[in-house]
Amino acid sequence: MKDYDVVVIGGGISGLLSALALSKEGKNVLILEKDEYVGGVCRSYLVDGYLVDTGPHAITRLETGPLKELMDRYFDVTPKFIPFGIYYVRVGKKIRPFPWTIKNWLTFDLLPTKDRLLLLKLLFDTLYMLNTDKDLSMVPLSDILPSDSSVITKKFLDWLSYFMVGTPMEEAPISRFIDNRSHKPSSIPYVGGLYNLLITEGSADQGYPVGGLQSIVDSILKSFPKNRVDIKTNEEVLKIRCNGGAEGVITRKDSYDCDTVLYSGFASDLSNLVDDLPREYTKNLKTIKTVNSLTIWLGLTKKVFKNHGSEMWIDSDPYAWVVPTSNYDPKVAPKGKQLVGFAFILPEKYDLEEMKKKALSAIFDTIPEIEKCVDMIHYQELIPEKASWGINSGFGNVKTPIKNLYTIGTDSEKRSAGVSRAAYSVLRCLEIMKGGSNREKRR
Ligand SMILES: Cc1cc2nc3c(=O)[nH]c(=O)nc-3n(C[C@H](O)[C@H](O)[C@H](O)COP(=O)(O)OP(=O)(O)OC[C@H]3O[C@@H](n4cnc5c(N)ncnc54)[C@H](O)[C@@H]3O)c2cc1C
Repeated sequence: MKDYDVVVIGGGISGLLSALALSKEGKNVLILEKDEYVGGVCRSYLVDGYLVDTGPHAITRLETGPLKELMDRYFDVTPKFIPFGIYYVRVGKKIRPFPWTIKNWLTFDLLPTKDRLLLLKLLFDTLYMLNTDKDLSMVPLSDILPSDSSVITKKFLDWLSYFMVGTPMEEAPISRFIDNRSHKPSSIPYVGGLYNLLITEGSADQGYPVGGLQSIVDSILKSFPKNRVDIKTNEEVLKIRCNGGAEGVITRKDSYDCDTVLYSGFASDLSNLVDDLPREYTKNLKTIKTVNSLTIWLGLTKKVFKNHGSEMWIDSDPYAWVVPTSNYDPKVAPKGKQLVGFAFILPEKYDLEEMKKKALSAIFDTIPEIEKCVDMIHYQELIPEKASWGINSGFGNVKTPIKNLYTIGTDSEKRSAGVSRAAYSVLRCLEIMKGGSNREKRR
């Protein structure tokens, strides 16, 4: 008899969500996690009385997206979300809400008027391109930007590229920003892709989980059916045993037999775990690219950030996304103090200590008041997604050439980003395991 029906390699959000779904559907599941905790890059922990997350997070598509679908189907305990509020754009001391409507765009005075008009024209030109044979997934944003655009306009688009795609605009495909299926009538036409990742005022589609990211992990753990899921941490999987199909795993400590294996580590590492994967398949996996991020968490002795929402710092060097998490849930900071996460995308090659210094000075240069009220500093160097969306970078696929072996997580699915993308990969995996179609389904 097999030890388990399913072994899930990795206890990040995709591993936990799939273990929950499969156990609720009657399978006996084992989760093997190499670290000492589960949650991967979606968890929280205490630093000097502040509850920091693994990077600032806006959980997206909460009304109709994949996480909502999984929560509705499988969660006994659901996390509570506070609306994420407005995305503000900051240039120096000036701060404005992100311009969603054409009217707001025309009065968005952080960018020169000429550039705003040009960009509007560009939008319509791009719209026209949708009706041509041009493959927009191969056209970088930089290609369509007029060369005489101002520096700040370039930075604005570069910021969006870095935080939506994980690459500078020279590598960001314009298809990532355009989605003619899901835009709202009030938004600038055809920027649905952007719309889905950011937010309009008052929308409840994005949220911050009360109790931090950990509350999502805890809700999943509390929803596991009794005696159906075993979790072993500090147990790295070294090999996946295959014999015509996946039939077990070997760890540093033990080995386990099973019918099905779900792998949620880096798909590009799969060839280290499985012998004899087809060359074409591994060749594609090796084209997957990732970017690293630096988050600086600052505990502040007073509330410096007063708005309900996050800030896009488009003229700081490096660019930053700033999220005062204690504005959503005051309990993540000691009473009367503020917890703020500053996320930076790191270049391909970098010296971490230098980047920390540079990023910290960018914070103090932008808002000098902060330096005087720092109570706690905590740094995190993390990989937000296991695949970036740049031109010429590859993606994995939930289905592998090995029977009963699936890959899940942010490099196995292209839709959306972050936690939503991880959740899409889980839904897709469930669908394939149930014998459903392997066709891409858009939401
Ligand atoms: C700074 C930052 C900001 C972010 N912002 C957002 C945001 O605003 N919104 C959003 O939705 N998402 C955001 N994300 C991304 C999101 O958190 C991740 O994309 C998501 O959590 C990834 O989940 P995963 O399960 O695919 O991967 P992971 O969390 O990486 O989980 C994989 C797990 O597998 C384990 N593992 C790997 N190999 C093995 C092995 N051989 N044996 C055993 N265990 C193994 C790893 O230790 C890890 O725990 C952000 C991330 C960062 C870092």
